[in-house]
Amino acid sequence: MTTASADSQPLAPPNDSTPAPRKRRPPRRVEVSRVQILSPAMRRITLTGAELEGFPATGPASYIKLIFPEPGQTEPIRPLPDGPRAVSMRTYTPLAVRPEALEVDVDFVLHGEGPASSWAAQARVGQVLFLMGPGPGYPVDTLATQHLLIADDSALPAVETILAALPASASVQVLLEVIADAEQRELHSAAKLDVQWLARGTDHRLTGVPLEKALRGLPPVLAETLVYLACEAAAMRRLRQLLVDELGISREKIVGRGYWKLDVINHPDHDYGDDESSRAA
Ligand SMILES: Cc1cc2nc3c(=O)[nH]c(=O)nc-3n(C[C@H](O)[C@H](O)[C@H](O)COP(=O)(O)OP(=O)(O)OC[C@H]3O[C@@H](n4cnc5c(N)ncnc54)[C@H](O)[C@@H]3O)c2cc1C
Repeated sequence: MTTASADSQPLAPPNDSTPAPRKRRPPRRVEVSRVQILSPAMRRITLTGAELEGFPATGPASYIKLIFPEPGQTEPIRPLPDGPRAVSMRTYTPLAVRPEALEVDVDFVLHGEGPASSWAAQARVGQVLFLMGPGPGYPVDTLATQHLLIADDSALPAVETILAALPASASVQVLLEVIADAEQRELHSAAKLDVQWLARGTDHRLTGVPLEKALRGLPPVLAETLVYLACEAAAMRRLRQLLVDELGISREKIVGRGYWKLDVINHPDHDYGDDESSRAA
């Protein structure tokens, strides 16, 4: 499967047989215009700036890359479009894009140490980041009536964008793993929702354990159910195995995404596991 990365775009191919060369878009300079404390471990940060002109409305579970300041910098250095990648660049979900206001909202989990999480914990209005993207996400099948969304807090924004795209004809079982009950929030969708919030606690080594337990406790999952599964990388693999081997879901119904990896810095943005038959664009 080929995907356009968040920071590259194909140019028009010179002829039908020549692959299009990729040209990176210049990173966009954005400023923090609002910081909202949604819950103890979740910050909603609104980014704005004239350079967001032309930033497109994004589809469900799409992604952007954000470049954070290095220690000692008040503002990150703008990377050259085709220069080396910034060290402190991480992947996030554009939760809401308001092109007319030149604004993008991003929800950050405060998980502990890391350039992104540490920055979000101290974020103030006026601080500067660079933004690249967007990259593609999950093409929601609006004709399908049965959906199962399984995610931890890092993919909660992605789940919200999927829920926003689902029609009233859809029934959705949602399993969400968060640090504590205080992280729960209202979810909005035209679809019929059955939501389970699962508290993991602050020990990230237990990542995926509550999701696994909840999955085993579900009534039989209908064969036609489409599954979106996004969480810690090893947990994603374990949960997909469980879905296939024990719950009888066929692999092609499952889109799996590793959003972060325990003890790994800057886990890549395209961890699909062994999801060769991914339906994501
Ligand atoms: C497509 C995509 C979209 C994403 N969207 C979002 C989003 O909207 N909001 C969001 O909060 N995250 C999102 N993530 C996850 C985010 O990119 C990672 O959590 C990232 O590692 C955070 O960077 P950092 O600098 O804070 O930590 P890093 O420097 O990358 O990692 C440091 C350590 O922190 C731990 N760690 C990293 N992330 C987590 C976590 N979420 N929970 C517990 N421990 C962690 C790891 O053990 C790692 O060793 C997304 C990831 C992908 C691939």
